[in-house]
Amino acid sequence: MTAPNDTQQAQEIWFLTGSQGLYGEETLRQVADQSRSIAELLGSAPQIRPRLVWKPVLTDSDSIRRMCLEANASDTCAGVMVWMHTFSPAKMWIAGLSALDRPVLHLHTQYNLSLPWSSIDMDFMNLNQAAHGDREFAHIESRLGVTRKIVAGHVTDARVIERVAAWSRAAAGRQASRTLRLARFGDNMRDVAVTEGDKVEAEMRFGFSVNTYGVNDLVAVVDAVGDKEAAALAAEYGEQYDLVPILRPDGPRHDSLLYAAKIEIGLRAFLTDGGFSAFTTNFEDLGGLRQLPGLAVQRLMADGYGFGAEGDWKTSALLRTMKVMGDGQPGGTSFMEDYTYHLGPGVPRILGAHMLEVCPSIAADRPRCEIHPLSIGGREDPVRLIFDAAPGPAMVVGLSDLGDRFRLTANAVDVVAPSQPLPNLPVARAVWQPRPSLAESAESWLLAGAPHHTVLSAAVDLETLTDYAAMLDVELLTIDENTTPGQLAKEIRWNAAYHRLAQVL
Ligand code: MN
Repeated sequence: MTAPNDTQQAQEIWFLTGSQGLYGEETLRQVADQSRSIAELLGSAPQIRPRLVWKPVLTDSDSIRRMCLEANASDTCAGVMVWMHTFSPAKMWIAGLSALDRPVLHLHTQYNLSLPWSSIDMDFMNLNQAAHGDREFAHIESRLGVTRKIVAGHVTDARVIERVAAWSRAAAGRQASRTLRLARFGDNMRDVAVTEGDKVEAEMRFGFSVNTYGVNDLVAVVDAVGDKEAAALAAEYGEQYDLVPILRPDGPRHDSLLYAAKIEIGLRAFLTDGGFSAFTTNFEDLGGLRQLPGLAVQRLMADGYGFGAEGDWKTSALLRTMKVMGDGQPGGTSFMEDYTYHLGPGVPRILGAHMLEVCPSIAADRPRCEIHPLSIGGREDPVRLIFDAAPGPAMVVGLSDLGDRFRLTANAVDVVAPSQPLPNLPVARAVWQPRPSLAESAESWLLAGAPHHTVLSAAVDLETLTDYAAMLDVELLTIDENTTPGQLAKEIRWNAAYHRLAQVL
């Protein structure tokens, strides 16, 4: 992914080790050596992003507090991983943890995998005390109400690595969300409810800022793009996609492709200049744009930008955040909309698509680049990429504003090949079987009041999303193979009580 503004490339997770001064220099040197090697081992796992940075062992209240304040002030620290190699009396952590404004992972591990039964002596016992050191630390975390993920086990254990990886990716997503600037071109589609929301509350909860620009501000940039530049990008399209003959340089619709290229160049320049990593458009409000941006939106999503159609800034911000969380993982992440159903015969399936704007990162094969009329909006025919989504497990995630809080809803799904070819459907699409079944998934999704615009991702797993929601204290409803609509209805009621009680009076 070519990261917009490269924010996540510079991010770090800090590895903090707790101890105390009583052990003496020799033991503390061993503690430092061993904790550094654990950090290096974990940091070398390719799934764990952002990179792990080991910090000197903390042995007193003042250095702990200073380290936490340093983390808060850092533009690159996305989260802290904490481990008590030895006993670190936990009152020393009160000031630091109270001030800390970063996600915490409490790694409960020890240097040695096996207990050296025949050689163990009191020196060994003195050095390897995480079994009770971490219990002391967890007590003060609980007493202070610190939200944290706890991962127990040796760092050579694949389960430990996977759990740490999910958390570190969630922390990267949180950091990206906190620095995200989103540009809206025009407002929401008129009369639509679910794409609305409280932008002030969103900035308080998620950190992203949402601001509107007149679409003609974008048109001015698009119109200023030179013909030569557009021709060069159009040639690139010809190399990357199967270009339909009428769009080729000698074809009758080549001008439409050149204009699509101008939209992409202009949009990219507008977003880069403003430091934006997500945006929205609205087909009802295109100003002087001659085509609805299709190809440009698809390609910008593939480069890591967040996008929402019809002014849907919540889905756009969620897409950008999930792009960061899934960075480097196999599988793509796209804007999506539940469009229409196959209710039978056979296993019921959902056909997901949008007017044009589906990200080619989820494509099974090389996309085709075509031009077709759009039955809505009254503009020139837009150029778009057409493909089927790659089969495999994925998640469909929606973000809704309930008035008193935000709710994330996630459905585990299996993307499948279309049951038959779709020769007359001129848009990119995904076909999936939601878990536990279409009927139970749809009943649950509707009970949750979750949106029709979503993010479909094969790159972000449920554990990562769960960690992300916990870090922000945002409600998350999950619909998977274990869900029944009846149980979910109860969870929704309990959650309403919890979130209202948890709000500051
Ligand atoms: Mn839509």
